[in-house]
Amino acid sequence: MIRVLLLAGTAEARALAEALAGISGLAVNASLAGVTTDPAPIAVETRRGGYGGATGLAQYLADHGIAAVIDATHPFAAQMATNAVLACTATTTPRLRLLRPPWPPTGNWRSFPDLTTASAALPPGAHVLLTSGRKEIAPFAARPDLTCLLRVIEPVANLPGHITQLIARPPFTLDAELALMRSHAITHLVSKNAGGPGRAKLDAAARLNLPILMIERPAPPPGPTVATVEAAVAWLRETVAIDA
Ligand code: NAP
Repeated sequence: MIRVLLLAGTAEARALAEALAGISGLAVNASLAGVTTDPAPIAVETRRGGYGGATGLAQYLADHGIAAVIDATHPFAAQMATNAVLACTATTTPRLRLLRPPWPPTGNWRSFPDLTTASAALPPGAHVLLTSGRKEIAPFAARPDLTCLLRVIEPVANLPGHITQLIARPPFTLDAELALMRSHAITHLVSKNAGGPGRAKLDAAARLNLPILMIERPAPPPGPTVATVEAAVAWLRETVAIDA
């Protein structure tokens, strides 16, 4: 049996698990960071929680006889991607990064390296739709002159009064995004360049001619990278000896 570790936490990881689940001779183990309390189901055996850094992951790879690692974590999960590089290098385990393409610029788009610089660029009094996740809210918490609508999948505790949270799970349609932006009198959209299907917010902001403050991705890790589930399956077939 060939054992493969799938670092998950994205829709592509779920799709890849689905594609690999039926292949005979292959045992795929997936892992989630464990930050979401009710994650969407994955078609293969899945563990929750970290490994204890790159060293812990290297130990896990050795202990479980892992023949290949596919890192299908989110484009902004830079720590996990780095850990995967280090652990796979240390154990000479083949590793692939499955990384969805970024969104191309649209509308009134400005790129920023991080949320701190994006926050600093917002004018006083702006009504901001924050879709950049639950991490790193501090730059916006430090701007009480803004009115922020923070869209998150799970509630965030201890938000200041000028940040209201909206608990919602994608997908979102263009009409729903337009209605949301209009009803909250949104003047600016802040997003990470996650890529993938969730671009209706960009199309809505472009339609309303709202400035889009886009946090661009951290540099991807070195080594082989593919953009699709099909290419990841093909890489695995070339890298380990799968029968079917
Ligand atoms: P991160 O900063 O790169 O990783 C932080 C730590 O979380 C890692 O060092 C690792 O802990 C653990 N971890 C991360 N992904 C893991 C996985 N798939 N399996 C097991 N442990 C994992 O990651 P993050 O940005 O917090 O993202 C956490 C998870 O949410 C990832 O699975 C990612 O795909 C998903 N996600 C992230 C974003 C985002 O915007 N960052 C958006 C959507 C989904 P140890 O060092 O202890 O191993």
